Amino acid sequence: MLLLCVGTGVALSGTFELSADLVDAQALQHARISVHTVKEAWFLYSQAVVGRLDNVDNVTVSPEYHHISGGIPVPATYTIELGERVSKSEKGLSFRLFSNYPFPNRQGSGGPQNLFEQEALNYLQQHPSDFYYQKTKEQGQLLFRYAEAIQMGSSCVKCHNTWPGSPKTDWQEGDIRGVIEITQPIDAFVAQAQAGLKSIWSTLIIIGCLAVMSLILVISYLQNTNQILQARVAEKTSALARLAHLDSLTELANRRCFDQVLEQEWRRMERQQRPLALMMCDVDYFKRFNDSYGHQAGDRCLQKIAHAINANVRRTGDLATRYGGEEFAVIMPNTDHRQACIVAEKVQRAMLDLEIEHCQSEIADHVTLSIGVASTIPQPIYHPTHLVQVADTALYEAKVNGRNQIIVKLPDTLESQPT
Ligand code: GH3
Ligand code: MG
Ligand code: MG
Repeated sequence: MLLLCVGTGVALSGTFELSADLVDAQALQHARISVHTVKEAWFLYSQAVVGRLDNVDNVTVSPEYHHISGGIPVPATYTIELGERVSKSEKGLSFRLFSNYPFPNRQGSGGPQNLFEQEALNYLQQHPSDFYYQKTKEQGQLLFRYAEAIQMGSSCVKCHNTWPGSPKTDWQEGDIRGVIEITQPIDAFVAQAQAGLKSIWSTLIIIGCLAVMSLILVISYLQNTNQILQARVAEKTSALARLAHLDSLTELANRRCFDQVLEQEWRRMERQQRPLALMMCDVDYFKRFNDSYGHQAGDRCLQKIAHAINANVRRTGDLATRYGGEEFAVIMPNTDHRQACIVAEKVQRAMLDLEIEHCQSEIADHVTLSIGVASTIPQPIYHPTHLVQVADTALYEAKVNGRNQIIVKLPDTLESQPT
């Protein structure tokens, strides 16, 4: 937005400057052509008319030719009158000839009349082949004033040096004889340029507004897209987090989750000095089950067991997990070994209710679980793996004792507590 505003501002000021330059260039070109035309008329008259009259009788060349019969103007008078006629064609337009040595009949108006003319004369005397111009405002009108030097030609020198009343009689060819000046109003140029400028500015402003609107649209579109993407990322992240903690087959928490939660609950129960119970369950003769009924049936069996365990672990903070293979672990904070035993018994009853046939089991005609239970009030000297080891030992004992049973162990004593 900022760059767009700066760009538009630069473009606007650039077109303004360009328009002012164009007005100057146009006025300068116009002035140079006009002065050139008048000068050419002067030289032509001087050479082709006055220069050919040397041996012609009854023709007098004089600045005051109006009062003389057979009189014609000297070239300077001719040029002055030509300029006066052209000046009448447009309001504000004027041609003037002036010099430091005006003829007696132009003593009043033939010298520099104002500051511009004096400056122009001084400058052009130093730089005869250059030109001098200024823009001025007079009576509410913008004027362009342009001046060029007039150098003394060979045909003029003799006449100027011998003319009675000539203010200077030692002219030489190439001397600065005077200055020709054109003053032209440039209000019309300026108005034309300003009209063009207005249309460029309005176009630029329209383009700027459209660009701003497009930017706003794009930004709001990007913001919306960003919000949608952020929501999707959050969704995916939470889905991934869930997946990272879930076992895909049983949809129970997985081993990674088990490790994290056990660590957290161990610390929490340690702070509160409350008992933390752990129950490890292992399916009996599950390898044989797979062998008899197939791996897919084994998977379905694991899913049912997982569901049964989870359904009996209802207290807030309890977490049923798949520990690995056909082993499940349940973390129960705020639970002593008696309460944990009650849960284990519920799970075993649920297994009975499932009635999953197992013809290869040596201890029952349906799938059974061996369960090891441990519970302790966590102490800083122990690590949570200590509780896992104790529950595992209890599970091992349950296996050794004939399976399909619950063994409870207390970490402090490591003594078995058969139920
Ligand atoms: P025990 O009573 O001593 O526990 O005998 P078991 O056969 O249950 O124990 P063992 O460790 O010998 O075999 C466990 C079997 O569990 C082997 C493996 O094929 C099966 N198992 C582990 N994970 C899965 C699973 O995700 N799906 C299926 N279908 N079977 C699994
Ligand atoms: Mg096992
Ligand atoms: Mg097993």
